[in-house]
Parts: sequence; structure tokens; C-alpha cells
Amino acid sequence: DLLSNKIAAGEVVERPASVVKELVENALDANSTIIEIEVEEAGLAKIRITDNGDGIEESDVLMAFQRHATSKIKNDQDLFRIRTLGFRGEALPSIASVSRIEIKTSTGEEGTRLVLEGGHVEIFEKASSRKGTDIIVTDLFFNTPARLKYMKTVHTELGNITDIVNRLALSHPEVSFRLIHNDRKLLHTNGNGDVRQVLAAIYGLNIVKKMIPIEATSLDFTIRGWLALPEITRASRNYITTMVNGRFIKNYPLVKSIQEGYHTLLPIGRFPIALLNVEMDPILVDVNVHPSKMEVRFSKEAELNHLVTETIKNAFHQKEL
Ligand code: ADP
Ligand code: MG
Repeated sequence: DLLSNKIAAGEVVERPASVVKELVENALDANSTIIEIEVEEAGLAKIRITDNGDGIEESDVLMAFQRHATSKIKNDQDLFRIRTLGFRGEALPSIASVSRIEIKTSTGEEGTRLVLEGGHVEIFEKASSRKGTDIIVTDLFFNTPARLKYMKTVHTELGNITDIVNRLALSHPEVSFRLIHNDRKLLHTNGNGDVRQVLAAIYGLNIVKKMIPIEATSLDFTIRGWLALPEITRASRNYITTMVNGRFIKNYPLVKSIQEGYHTLLPIGRFPIALLNVEMDPILVDVNVHPSKMEVRFSKEAELNHLVTETIKNAFHQKEL
């Protein structure tokens, strides 16, 4: 019912960036190759996600907005996915309960248009549409004033959105992403599958020219990544992106072990630009905190951190010789 949707919304839809994350992940799940994200006032006024994915059948559209009515996870194959998508089948109903949503979707046949306000269906009709899905979320948190008040500045909220989209783009170099805020283009990746192209779109070509690849394997882990040379530093850890099996995650000890690898090469208070993907058996990772925040814990953490630190140390040591 609407009330439990609204309560669930407090969990799933913390801020505009979480809406963007859920909607973009849905677009990715629907096999989209082009995803456009358009936001106004850091998403509080408007969030629009347009994709060229599979679309939703007319008969499934209403169900997509009912809690737990849908779930893509139908078997136990993808352990990591199950562990991270704790709120399955909750995103759309949750977002709908605290906003106005308009969705146009088509599987290639005649499409459907649905408008909901605070979770109530206002319009449900046939509509001409190209294949894919177009979702517009406006008036986010209009009926949850406490949540709205808790929002930080436009600057902060936009930073969160950019952060999420950058990370999604880095973990999906095969998909073209475009992020637009108040008519200003903030990111455009071409989807050619080369992660360096995504790095260039985010950080600039001059930075990418000063990044080196690393690759190493231990008993349980294989790591691959790109590291900026130590001469390039940033004032925050935000430029360190970590992934497990191609999905971005947060893990403070892992970030620490990357910094550790740079050792004395970085001035105090300065941080590297780095992208690191850990390939591993998902059984060794535990999503123990809030699933939508992607906070994880590793068993065999010491083995992983040692591998990361040593690999990075060696990479820069060899560079000097
Ligand atoms: P979940 O992703 O966990 O299944 P959601 O609430 O995020 O739950 O989405 C509900 C359902 O709506 C999905 O299972 C999917 O079938 C459909 N859906 C949502 N967004 C899209 C999209 N962009 N393209 C195609 N189908 C979508
Ligand atoms: Mg989803």
C-alpha cells in the first residue's frame, strides 16, 4: 500500500542521487546501450532518464510500481547481485510514492504512458514511443517535507549525482552515458567499451595519458586497474573508484591499501586518481551495511590489501628504474 511504499522510500530513496542510481541501474538491467540522465536543480526539480533498452510490456507497467511484485532476480546464480540488491522490486514504487512520475515505455510495439502522483495512478494510456524507456521524476519529496529539508545545497546534491553517474559509467564502458544538469553537459561517454575513454571523459585526456595499467593475481583475487602517476594528486579520496566483479563498491580498507601503495610518493593530505576492479568469488564479499550504499566487507581482507599495496608499490618502483 501507499504508506509502506512511503516508508520504504525513506530507505531506498535517500536523496536525488539514489533515485538516479536506481533508475540508471534499471536501464542497465534492461540492456540499454545509450542512457541519458537529465537533471534540474540537482534532481529536486526534475530527473529524467531516457534509455534504449528492452522497455516494459503494457501488461507489466502497473505491476512495476507495486512493491515486490517484480524482481529480476529469479535464481541464485549471481550471488553478488543478490547480496547487493537487497531492495529488489522496491525502487520504482518507493520513488513513485514521494514524487510525480511520468513513464513512457515501449518494447518496440505500441508503447504505454503512465503518470503517477504520490503513488496514485493519474493517467494510464497507450502512447506512441520508440523502443526503450523514458522516466521523468518531478517534485521529488513533495509529500515528505522533512526529507526535503534534510537535503543539502544544490552543489552537494549535484556532486552526489555526478559521483554516482561517473562510477556507473566507469563500471559500464560499453554503455554510452550522457549527464546533463540545467542544460549543461557534465559527462558524455561514447560506449566503445574502453575504460580509458570513460576516464578521459571524467578526468580529461591529459590525466589519462598519465595513468598506468596494473594487473596482479593472488590465490583468491585478481586485480586490474588504472593508476594516475604520483605527481597527479587530488585533495580528496573521491577520485579513487573501487569495483568488485565490475560493480562499484565502497570499502575503506581497500581505498587505504591503494593509498598505502603510493606510500611516501604522495604529500600528506593528497590522494591519487585510481580505478581498481577486484575479480573474486562473490562468496568472499559481504554486503553488510546498507545495500544501496554499496558498502562491502571482504573475507581474506589482509590477502587482498597486501596484493593491492604491493602491486602498486611495484608499479611505481619499476617506473623509476
Ligand atoms: P527491480 O529492479 O529490483 O526489479 P524496480 O522497482 O527497480 O525493481 O523495477 C521494477 C521493474 O520495472 C523491473 O523489474 C523491470 O521489469 C521494470 N523496469 C524498471 N525500469 C525499467 C527500464 N528502464 N527498462 C525496462 N524495464 C524497467
Ligand atoms: Mg531496480
